[in-house]
Amino acid sequence: MKKKIFVLLISMLACSGCSAANHETNTVSAVQDTEKQSEMKEAQTSEGEAASDDEAVVEVFAMDTYITIKAYGKNANKAVAQAQERVEELDKQLSTGLAESEVSQLNAKGGGALSDETTYLMKRSLEICESTNGAFNPIMYPIMEAWGFTKKTYQVPEKGLLQQLLTYTDIQQLTFDERQKTVTFGIQGMKLDFGGIAKGYTSAQIMDIFKTYGVESGMVSLGGNVQVLGNKVDGTPWRVGIQNPNTEEEYLGVLEVTDKAVITSGGYERYFEENGTVYHHIIDPATGYPAESGLDSVTIVSTDGTLADGLSTALFVMGLEKAEEYWKSNRESFDAILHTKEGQLYVTEGIADEFSSDFEYSIIK
Ligand code: ADP
Ligand code: MG
Repeated sequence: MKKKIFVLLISMLACSGCSAANHETNTVSAVQDTEKQSEMKEAQTSEGEAASDDEAVVEVFAMDTYITIKAYGKNANKAVAQAQERVEELDKQLSTGLAESEVSQLNAKGGGALSDETTYLMKRSLEICESTNGAFNPIMYPIMEAWGFTKKTYQVPEKGLLQQLLTYTDIQQLTFDERQKTVTFGIQGMKLDFGGIAKGYTSAQIMDIFKTYGVESGMVSLGGNVQVLGNKVDGTPWRVGIQNPNTEEEYLGVLEVTDKAVITSGGYERYFEENGTVYHHIIDPATGYPAESGLDSVTIVSTDGTLADGLSTALFVMGLEKAEEYWKSNRESFDAILHTKEGQLYVTEGIADEFSSDFEYSIIK
């Protein structure tokens, strides 16, 4: 039941077939079957740079996720190497699992000074929190801990405990000063968690690195969350398969994209089962329980990776009706693919022409 959005027509098999050891090698290289050709082309070009269709790939395990980064053409190798470094930096900075990370330190101290990075993430998180009426909430960590999602020690917490912990997730108790770059927690025990937004921010950062290096075609897949730069090298749009939450064997559909993030939240991504009930990792801030909104998969498509990630979590919590309403008021900034537990599929108007599926689907206008 692992999430699996595939970027089609590129060899994701090379990724899913890789052993963990392979991922940890972290080497930057052209894919195997084109390696020789690349070397030859590189030798032939005067600056020693790859020709326009050469591919550089890196596979990293970070953020508890298998990450694949690909870039094409001139400077592709340098760009993916830099992107890998950035992923590792961000992991060290944002990971709640690392005691020395900036976020863990803030949580341990009950707030304090923020880096530029966390200032930006705090700002974006609070914007999304406000605009989604709290469906996205960046301080759910105490609740995540109670469910054991943080250490994989899964358990169903007592209702009373959850009620108590919900006082720590009251966003009004958090004071953020953007100019001073500080955050203060009004109640001791409050804790930040950028887990609902960090991967989208990371993919957006990778696109910026690609652009800095003059790369015109590239992609990153973080555990299935995809962001692409430009088109494929053949000039046609990237094709991103949206996983069917019920089976790994088929897609809900395929989306053609250029310069977009395609980010999915699904209950199937991280969950445990107890006494026949499935408990997943997207928490409804109103209850402290895994969101049971009737949606089982939400994909957000946007040029803004950070927004796409935040909204994928928020719209999953909202459910179909509210998600639809939210899109109608914010249609210029994103599109969405929504799937209900009953098997209904919805696609918003802005991407309807780029979406294809074997299933019946309705277009939200
Ligand atoms: P994934 O990270 O698996 O792609 P999401 O983007 O939906 O999925 O993020 C889920 C993560 O976000 C959880 O693991 C947790 O760290 C955090 N989270 C859980 N519920 C919420 C929420 N309502 N708002 C913001 N973050 C949340
Ligand atoms: Mg998210």
